[in-house]
Amino acid sequence: MKLSALKFSLILASGFLMASCAVNPYASTNKLYKKQAKAYGKSLWAVPQVNPEEVAYPQGDYWVGATNFNMRKPNYVIIHHTAQNSTEHTLKTFTTKATQVSAHYVIGRDGKVYQMLNDHLRAWHGGASKWGNNTDINSSSIGIELDNNGAEPFAEAQINSLLGVLEMLKKKHGIPAANFIGHSDIAPSRKVDPNPTFPWQKLSQSGFGLWYDADVLDSVVVAKNYADSVATGKVDTTLLQQEVLVLQQEPKYKVPDTFNPQDALRIIGYDTRNMEAAIKAFKLHFIQTEVNAELTEKDKQILYNLYQKCL
Ligand SMILES: [Zn+2]
Repeated sequence: MKLSALKFSLILASGFLMASCAVNPYASTNKLYKKQAKAYGKSLWAVPQVNPEEVAYPQGDYWVGATNFNMRKPNYVIIHHTAQNSTEHTLKTFTTKATQVSAHYVIGRDGKVYQMLNDHLRAWHGGASKWGNNTDINSSSIGIELDNNGAEPFAEAQINSLLGVLEMLKKKHGIPAANFIGHSDIAPSRKVDPNPTFPWQKLSQSGFGLWYDADVLDSVVVAKNYADSVATGKVDTTLLQQEVLVLQQEPKYKVPDTFNPQDALRIIGYDTRNMEAAIKAFKLHFIQTEVNAELTEKDKQILYNLYQKCL
């Protein structure tokens, strides 16, 4: 017993020695983090006060602090690619004051996760953005940056770690599946991240983000009255003069003629003030093979299916 305890403490001591010998290159910016976090902590301890001369309402007779509360929680997760060449490059960017950008988590190609901010603090990752009527996404979201040059596929280890982080966040903060989205979704006129190789379908299968139903593009064979088929222009009248019934391939789920893609995109969450940009962002997320501002019949079927999930 004594010997193993000694061994254990030796292992512990050597581990401690190794850790203390490893120099953290971010020691000085970590000090800044702690200083800023402490200042915000102090503002939370303070009794809420307003200057009576600056407000147009009378104050109560004394201050009463409620005793039932906790911290506000993030309700969205925004996924980004860094468009930089290394994790180290991004860590530098997020610890340099002048850049004015940051994120809660940075995940390297090797799968290593750097949590750079407490989840309850507001990172500067969304910029000018909008999802539904939410115009301050930074206040209600967690930002996750994936080390990626902007065009390359995402590494397997990186996606595995991302799934682990998302699982933890979803559980911890109770974030709804539909609220896992990309930077391009919330800022369609400005952003194109994460790039089209991002595995949104795989994420959705694990409970993070929306995806369309597997059979949405299926077609079915239907028997049609000959006269109806002629009326819809779907039959060659010269070949089928004598037939009473004809067989036709039709989409399994028909998009109604009254379907309005702009309304659908807006209901899903997209900012549709610039429709071209909204369609491109939608296609970057859900179509991925051809990212342009044109909605094909296939795209409309997918959009209609997703829209119905959001009603
Ligand atoms: Zn981004």
